[in-house]
This record gives sequence, structure tokens and C-alpha cells, in this order.
Amino acid sequence: MANDNSAPVSASGLRLSGEPLQIIRATTKEEEEKTLHVFELDEEKLEKVLLDPRIQEKKVVVVSVAGAFRKGKSFLLDFFLRYLSAEGQPDWLGDDDSPMEGFTWRGGSERETTGILLWSEPFICKTPSGEEVAVLLMDTQGAFDSESTVRDCATIFALSTMLSSVQVFNLTHNIQEDDLQHLQLFTEYGRLALEDNDNVSKPFQCLMFLVRDWSFPYESPYGVAGGRKVLEKRLQISDKQHQELKQIRQHIRSCFEEISCFLLPHPGLNVATNPHFEGKLKDIEREFKDQLRVLIPLLLDPDNLIVKEINGSKVTCRDLMEYFKAYIKIYQGEELPEPKSMLQATAEANNLAAVTTAKSDYSKRMETVCGGDKPYLHPDRLEEDHLRCKQSSIDIFKSTRKMGGAEFSKQYLERLGAEIDEQYENFKKHNDGKNIFSSARTPAVLFTVMTF
Ligand code: GDP
Ligand code: MG
Repeated sequence: MANDNSAPVSASGLRLSGEPLQIIRATTKEEEEKTLHVFELDEEKLEKVLLDPRIQEKKVVVVSVAGAFRKGKSFLLDFFLRYLSAEGQPDWLGDDDSPMEGFTWRGGSERETTGILLWSEPFICKTPSGEEVAVLLMDTQGAFDSESTVRDCATIFALSTMLSSVQVFNLTHNIQEDDLQHLQLFTEYGRLALEDNDNVSKPFQCLMFLVRDWSFPYESPYGVAGGRKVLEKRLQISDKQHQELKQIRQHIRSCFEEISCFLLPHPGLNVATNPHFEGKLKDIEREFKDQLRVLIPLLLDPDNLIVKEINGSKVTCRDLMEYFKAYIKIYQGEELPEPKSMLQATAEANNLAAVTTAKSDYSKRMETVCGGDKPYLHPDRLEEDHLRCKQSSIDIFKSTRKMGGAEFSKQYLERLGAEIDEQYENFKKHNDGKNIFSSARTPAVLFTVMTF
């Protein structure tokens, strides 16, 4: 694992920089006896993370932990941070006396806010093929405690499922029927996407049920094998089952490429009940730490990282920005959006992302031909280069997998053409500016030349 920032790692294996950023917030407003639900995206904060030049063109891995409040999500994410910061060092868990840092220590008043938090510092990791990818951690929270908050939570969880490559669904004690119902609620949107995209891929990637405080290790052991046993039992479909239970299970299976389950032991009474607990390792049960050493590499070891894909195409950080903007838009209305509009939003976002990538290819190629440090080119030669670069950019756009069909993409192709032509005009102006003979002919310049 390699991180761009090569500052030495401290003795405890910790070098934590960054902070949790609330990038999506759900709020409700009372207006004329109606409750309005508002979902806000903090574009500025998100852009700072995703459009950072170090990562914007890298493929992105988004690991999200979702579930109700006060169930140890942030606590777990702090261990994710330790693992990623240690960059492959075996003693990543840290020393006995270091307090917990990360998502928990700046929780503050944001703690009870329904929304999505993102760790501000991406981790750059090298996959086995040698490619560098950006790993982002997402903390998602909400509370299913009333009619209106169920709706907000479903939306927030839907968003985090749509935007992550690995969704960890954090539960306590067991997988209950109402957990499955909630999951169905927020993966409902997947169903239509399934129908539209030629069944190339399931709408979502990996789902892991993470059961905390598992207390039947003698029935099903801690870890992934025990988890498989519990999961098989819970997701089993049989003829004897009620139709509704059957449908929930079929739906969940059809939404995710991969579903797993991990059983974590109780971390000990210090963690669960001591108000002065700071997260020191010595106060945590050994068994819990042992299982963390299994769970976390399973999710975050460079060999196991899952790059975010939408409609079968791998997504870069810059693309992800478009998806965030598109997905938040569909939840801005008063009613729950139709699955159709979610599909439309996805199609728009991946067409827009393809335009951005193709356009940046054009400007990069043109920079190498006629950038600031390049000599003046004859206009005919410049036009030739422009046409060549434009064609390459159009080819990139066309070969990028997009949703919505060819007809839908046509308007984006036209937009790409227009934006490239606009850039070409600028390149032409700059090029003309380099020609001292042609510029000397304009009176203003002539005047300055004469007065010197
Ligand atoms: P979040 O709201 O889901 O992010 O929960 P936090 O991470 O803030 O943790 C809430 C409380 O649960 C804290 O007091 C933690 O010390 C405690 N806690 C963390 N992990 C576990 C766990 O696995 N089991 C139990 N019983 N408590 C935990
Ligand atoms: Mg939390």
C-alpha cells in the first residue's frame, strides 16, 4: 500500500490526518402543516476531496458503513483509518494506550444528524495489477424511529448504497426480519435499473452484513464462515415461505453482485458501557481485536479492494462527483422519487462524466501540441492537430459505457463537440499571440513597440 504522503509513520503505527466531513445532510422543515424533507449536498467540501489533482483521475473504492445510531459504526471506521494509515504494517492496530481518533473524536453535535460523512483524506493504494486507486471511507447514519425519519434514512442509505462499492450494513445481535425490510426499502431503486441495463450487471456491488455483539459463537463461529451460515439461513428462499418474505429475499439477492456476512464478538463492557472509554486497545476484549484483524484486511487489503462500478464501468473520483450531484437531485422533491428518475439521473451522470473525461483528453493532447511553452504553429497545422485530437476525444466518449441509449447520448456528444470547438478558439488565440509578425501588425502593439 502506498500513500502519496510519505511522512514517517509513528511508533504506534499511526499517522492520521484528515477529518470527517458531513457531505450530505437530511433535514426536515415544517411548512404550512406539511413536512418538507430536504437533502443537501455540500458540493464545495466534496469537490475538495474528489477533485484533488492527486486522485481525480484515479479509480475510486468507496467503503461505506451504514446503519442506525450508536451501534459502533464510527468506532469501527476508526480502525479502518488505522489500517489504511499504517500502509501495510503488521502492527496497524496500534499500541495499547493510544486513544481512538477519527470519525468518533470529532463527532460532536453532528453525531445525531442523519446524513453521510466522508473522511477528508483519501488513501492511495496499489492494487495487485500495479494500478493506484483512491480509497474513500464513508460513515452513514440515521435512526428509524418515526414515520418521517424512516423515509430520510431510506434515502440516505439508498444514496450510500448507490455511491459505494462496498456497503457494510452494521447490525446488532442478529440479522432481523425488519433489517431485511429496511434493506429492501433502500435497494428498491435497484430493481428498475436491473430491468433497463440489459442485465449486464446488478445495480450494486458488495454488501456485507456486519453483526455486532454476536453471542452464539458455539452455533456459528465468529468471522466470515459463521456469517455465511447465518446469512444462508436468513436469505433462504423456500416454497413454504410467505410470498412477501420470499420477495424480499429475491430482491436483495438480485440487487448485489456479492453478499457476505461477518460475525463480530462483543468488545467488552468497557467499550459498551464505560462513559470514560477513550478507545484504548487495552480496554478492548482480545477476541474482538482478533476478529478485527480478520475483518478489516478482508475489506481493505489491496488484494481485496473493489473499485466502484456503475453500469459495468469503473468509476474515477471525478466521475463520482457527477454521480453525487445527479443522485442528490432526484431526492430534492417532496415525494420519494420514482425509480425511473433515478435511472435517468444515472444516465445523465454517466454521460456527463464521459463528456468531462473526453474533453480533458482533448485539452491534454492539444497542450502537448500548442501549449504555453510550444512554438507558434501555422494555422493549417493547428487545425489538423485540432481535428485529430477532437476525433480521439469523440472516440473516447463513444467507447465509454453509458446508460440511456444512443439517442440519449447524442445530445451529450453534441455538447462535447461544442465545448471542444470553444476550447479550440482559445488555443487559436493563444497560438496567434505567439506569432510576433502577425501581432506586430495590429496598431496597438505597433504603438507599444514604437514607444520603447
Ligand atoms: P455510531 O453512532 O454507530 O457511529 O456509534 P459509535 O461508534 O459512536 O459508538 C456508540 C457506542 O457504542 C460507543 O460508546 C462505543 O464505545 C460503543 N461500541 C462500539 N463498538 C461496539 C460494539 O461492537 N458493541 C457494543 N455493544 N458497543 C460498541
Ligand atoms: Mg457515528
